[in-house]
Amino acid sequence: MSAQRLGSIESGGTKFVCLVGSAPDRIEAETRFPTGEPGPTLARAIAFFQETAAATGPLDAIGIASFGPLELRPGHAKFGHLAATPKPGWTGVDVAGPVAAALGVPVGIDTDVNGAALGEGRWGAARGLDTYVYLTVGTGIGGGAVIGGKVVSGLIHTEMGHLAVPRIAGDAFAGSCPFHEDCWEGLAGGEAMSIRWGSPAEELTGDTLREALRLEAAYLAAGLRNIVYTVAPQRIVIGGGVTELPGLFPLLRAELTATLAGYPGLPEHAAEDFVVPARLGRLAGPAGGLVLAAGAAAAARPRPQTRSGPSEGPDA
Ligand code: ZN
Repeated sequence: MSAQRLGSIESGGTKFVCLVGSAPDRIEAETRFPTGEPGPTLARAIAFFQETAAATGPLDAIGIASFGPLELRPGHAKFGHLAATPKPGWTGVDVAGPVAAALGVPVGIDTDVNGAALGEGRWGAARGLDTYVYLTVGTGIGGGAVIGGKVVSGLIHTEMGHLAVPRIAGDAFAGSCPFHEDCWEGLAGGEAMSIRWGSPAEELTGDTLREALRLEAAYLAAGLRNIVYTVAPQRIVIGGGVTELPGLFPLLRAELTATLAGYPGLPEHAAEDFVVPARLGRLAGPAGGLVLAAGAAAAARPRPQTRSGPSEGPDA
C-alpha cells in the first residue's frame, strides 16, 4: 500500500501550522502563520492545501488538532465548532466544516492536546502503548487520555488541567485559574509559576529555582496521582515549556512515588519510563493532525464486503 498523502493543521491560539506528508519525518510541504481573524486564517490554511495539491497531487484526508473547547460529539449539529473560547472572535466558529467543504476530502478533528497525545502514541514517547496519558504543562495544563487505543471523549473532551489538587502546606498563592483559582493549572501551570515567583519559570535561578521546582514537582505529582488512579495509564508523557526546567523529572518521579504511598505497590509506577518527557516537541500537534487525517481517511473508505459475493475469492 502506498503512503497516504495527508494534510495536517495544528490550529493554535497564536499560530497555525499546516503541513502535507505521511509522518513527522516525511513532510513534503509546510507553512505557519499567526492566528488572526477566523475567516482569513482558515482561508489561508485552505489555500495552502489547494496550492500543494495542485502542485504535487491530491490529498487523501486532512486532520485538525485545534485549540478548544471544541464540540466533538459525532452527529452533533455543531460538530467541529469551537465552544466558548477566550480567543476573541473565535467562539462558535466552525473549524472543520469550511476545510472539508473547500477541499472535498474527509476531515478529522480533535483538540490540540488530544492530537499531541495521538502523535506521541504513533511516533513518540507512548509508541506501542494503548492506554496512556499525554499532558502538556505550558502556560496552562492540558491532558489527553488514550484508553484502549482511543482518545477519551464523551460529552466533551477531558479537561485535566482543572483537576482539584490539595494545597501544599505553606503555599499561600491564591491560584491563577479564572474559573477555579486554585485548580491544578491555577497552581502549577506556567502562568501560575510566573505570577507566584514574579518572573517566568525559565528565568528563575538559585534558591528560588530550587523552591519552585520542589513545589512544582509536588503539585504535578498530586495531579498525576489522580490520573494514575482513574485512568490506570501504562505511561504518562509530559510536554510543554515547564518540563524543560532542569531536574524536574527526577523530582516529579520521587514525589509521585511518595504520594502513591505504596498503593497499589506496582514497581512500574516508580520506574524511569513511567513518567517521561514528550519526544516529538513542536511536531507533536502536527503529527496528531496526521493521525486524525489517517483516521478520517479510513472512516471514509468503503468497507470491504464481508458476505461472499460473486467476485469474491476462493470458495470457503
Ligand atoms: Zn481551573
